[in-house]
Formats: sequence, structure tokens, C-alpha cells
Amino acid sequence: MTKDHPIHMSQQIDHPSIKEELFLKLQQDHSIFDPSSANTDKIRCCMCGRLLAKDQFSLEHIIPQQALKADLRAARTLVPTNTRAGLTLLCNTPLELKGRKYSEKGCNSWKGAKYDTNINKIINGVINKINHKNPIISLLSLCYLALFSKFGYRVAFTKAGIICRKQFFSPAKFQADLPDFSQLAFLGSSPLDITENNQAYWSSPFWFDEGQQQVGQYVE
Ligand SMILES: [Zn+2]
Repeated sequence: MTKDHPIHMSQQIDHPSIKEELFLKLQQDHSIFDPSSANTDKIRCCMCGRLLAKDQFSLEHIIPQQALKADLRAARTLVPTNTRAGLTLLCNTPLELKGRKYSEKGCNSWKGAKYDTNINKIINGVINKINHKNPIISLLSLCYLALFSKFGYRVAFTKAGIICRKQFFSPAKFQADLPDFSQLAFLGSSPLDITENNQAYWSSPFWFDEGQQQVGQYVE
């Protein structure tokens, strides 16, 4: 590792400033879709949709940290966990929807309790045949969060985004409005070594195809 290695520079981790930075970025984006919130110091949680203050959110590792332990040793050394996981903010305050109590610590804890174990097992090959609803819903939630981390609130307010958010709160049963014919394909394998040419595999964990310009069709 050299002093001017591009990944080396990203190892300077400071959790409060990362959260602050993410919140400010989301706040700017949020005010585009909800101008009335621009001066409130609040943003919507991208899952439950509640308008909350910064201290009611915590950092969310989109790919669970447990799942990253299987990454190449060299990648673990060079690329910080936060970068390999992909980060966003999820609420951490008691969550009750339509009279039902979901989680004492919000969507952050709900994802951890309902989905992270399965995501970890799938990424590490412990589950290699996905024929149950919960692993599929786990991956759907992961993909939604990856999209949100890349494209922001325009994803949360699309018709498809709203379905994903509703599905997040139903870990064992598909939502009625989930399309009958949907496909998720998980392919490929990790590179065998980390080089300047392939470092994006770890430093930019989510990749989106050219269809990305169609992601943000806002639904009133
Ligand atoms: Zn939430």
C-alpha cells in the first residue's frame, strides 16, 4: 500500500462526519420532492416515510458487515468496511404503523432483525437455492436501499419504490401489488485479487445498468 494509493485515502473514517454528510446530502435531495420541509431540519426515512430529525437516524450498512468478512484479505485491508458495505441512513426511533408496533429502534433495527442474516447467508453461499419468500424479500430490500443510496428520494417516490417500501414491512409474505412476474438475477464471483483496475468491485459495491435514467419516474 502506497501513501498515494486511491483507496488508502478513503480509509479516513469518521462516523459523525459521515452521518452528517449523508444527512445534508439527503436533506438537499428531500427538499426537491418536499419543498415545505426545506427549513425543518428533517428528512423522510426512505423506508417508513416518517419525517424525522438527524438524531433519529443512524448509519445503515446496506450490505451487512457480517457478510463482508468473507471479502479478500487485501480488500479488507485497503477498502474500509463502510465503503464495501455502501451506506445510507435509516430511522432508529420506535416504529408503529397503522397501530402495529414493528420495531423499538426503527427501520434500522427492523432490517437487521428480519433481513441481514439471510443477506449474509446468500452473499456467502450458505443459501444457494433461493426458493423461500424471506430470502427474496431480503434481497429486494437490499436492492431498494442500493438504489436509494445512488438515486435518492426519486426512487422512494416511484410506484416501484413504494411497493418495495411496503414489502420491507412484510418479511414473510409478498405484497399483493408486487408484480406477478419479476426477476432478480445474482451472478458472478469475486475477483481473486485487488488491483487498480478492479478495485471498484469493493469501493463501489452497487452497479446499475444503462436503464438508470428511467429509475426516477416520479409518481404524484
Ligand atoms: Zn424508518
